[in-house]
Amino acid sequence: MNGTVDALDAAARAAEAQRHRRTFEQSRLDMMRGYAETGACRREYLLNYFGEAAPGPCAGCDNCAAVEGAGGPPACERPFDVGRRVTHRTLGAGTVVRCDEHAVTVLFDQQGYQQLALAVVLEGGLLDPEPAGA
Ligand SMILES: [Zn+2]
Repeated sequence: MNGTVDALDAAARAAEAQRHRRTFEQSRLDMMRGYAETGACRREYLLNYFGEAAPGPCAGCDNCAAVEGAGGPPACERPFDVGRRVTHRTLGAGTVVRCDEHAVTVLFDQQGYQQLALAVVLEGGLLDPEPAGA
């Protein structure tokens, strides 16, 4: 029964929610910057951003056209399927939205989009895939 403590608590919770929203918004901006700068298929990038699996390079965007001219896309190791639920030891649970030979992007439930260097993820075992069907 202490109104001051309750009010302080509510203010702290509101500030925390605000911080969380900012982090999330920032992560979306980072994803848009990634779209602008990506050297990979832009159609695939957008589909992944919205949580859809892409059938593969579209052959229609500027990047695909450039790769086609150079003799096809590079071999790509994809240990993390798009749509796979994963757990990161500090960022928590999330869903893989994109994976290429350099980086895996995860939409974390709490932190928003985070792009992680694939080499670091694999070496450090940073992402635990949840067992299929769990
Ligand atoms: Zn494309």
